[in-house]
Amino acid sequence: MPGDNEMIPTARPVIGEDEIEAAVRVLRSGLVVQGPEVAAFEEEFSRLVDGRHCVAVNSGTSALHLTLLALGIGPGDEVIVPSFTFAASANAVRLVGADVVFVDIEPDSFCLDPAAVEAAITPRTAAIMPVHLYGHPAAMDRIMDIAGRNGLAVVEDACQAHAAALNGTPVGAIGTAGTFSFYPTKNMHALEGGMISTADAQVARTLRLLRNQGMEQRYANEIVGANVRMTDVAAAIGRVQLAKLDTWTEQRRANAAYLDGQITGAVVPPVADGARHVYHQYTVRVRGDRDAAMRALTAAGVGSAVYYPTPVHRLKPYWEPDQKAGRSWDLPETERAAAEVVSLPVHPSLTQEDLARVAAAVNALGGDQ
Ligand SMILES: *Cc1c(COP(=O)(O)O)cnc(C)c1O
Repeated sequence: MPGDNEMIPTARPVIGEDEIEAAVRVLRSGLVVQGPEVAAFEEEFSRLVDGRHCVAVNSGTSALHLTLLALGIGPGDEVIVPSFTFAASANAVRLVGADVVFVDIEPDSFCLDPAAVEAAITPRTAAIMPVHLYGHPAAMDRIMDIAGRNGLAVVEDACQAHAAALNGTPVGAIGTAGTFSFYPTKNMHALEGGMISTADAQVARTLRLLRNQGMEQRYANEIVGANVRMTDVAAAIGRVQLAKLDTWTEQRRANAAYLDGQITGAVVPPVADGARHVYHQYTVRVRGDRDAAMRALTAAGVGSAVYYPTPVHRLKPYWEPDQKAGRSWDLPETERAAAEVVSLPVHPSLTQEDLARVAAAVNALGGDQ
């Protein structure tokens, strides 16, 4: 069978003719730095977050970093973050000089456990950073309630969750601010890039200053800022991808529904009531020997990956200072997830044959799942 020996990849970033034409159009114009394309991208993206203000930057990490700066979070403050996430979530907190407080996840959604969030609040807590991991929205209704009662900011890390929603409200339109990534493997990309959404006009203005040396008017710097601008080339590509996001998201959801119906050899990802999962990753739990399971998938031509094998609290820049300070975190669900999860191909470029091969390979893993 043709293509039978090719590995089905876990991600396939799209750089098609439309993206190339958009980039070339901007390059030919000669106006390539942040300009009209970025403004148009922000305007168009705001429709995805209920019309909130949108500020484009050069990465999802910059989006998180600048958001914390704009909210005035810094030394002496604590931010509650899951340890079961990409390091960028916690890195942003440490980059502004604040302390990371790691909290466990709910086993079903893989997102922050609201009860554990509430238990972790101290007089120094300034913000909660729920991560909509794999494209599944965190329990934002309960997290917003906790934040409201305690006067805390909520920074949604929606870097994996473009167009996800809870009870009809899109992620990035629930918390104080939301952050998105346009890294090539995300649900949409701009080569590299990020976006911040917020309902607060003052926060949006501060973000615009922070991304551009603190200037609105050239050489009339108002505050200390950085240069984390998005280029017009990246924004033009982002606009093309944004126009396709709906179709791609529906394809991801249809692919996931198919896998849900076919897979019996592993625990398929549960979806919370009222949640719209956008399947940045389709992540199953494999009980038993995960390495052996992944080798078997590889042998069957099915790509797989572990996000994330090491919880952030066990990474050196977090683990070592905690050890020195005699501090430890009790995160049993995080540790269990890190040992059990495997992400399978779910991206919109998969064919029906690919999906059937993924399901068959998982179901062939053996009876101990
Ligand atoms: C990708 C990602 C980021 C960082 O985005 P970049 O654009 O790569 O900087 C942050 N948080 C999570 C959960 C991510 O998946």
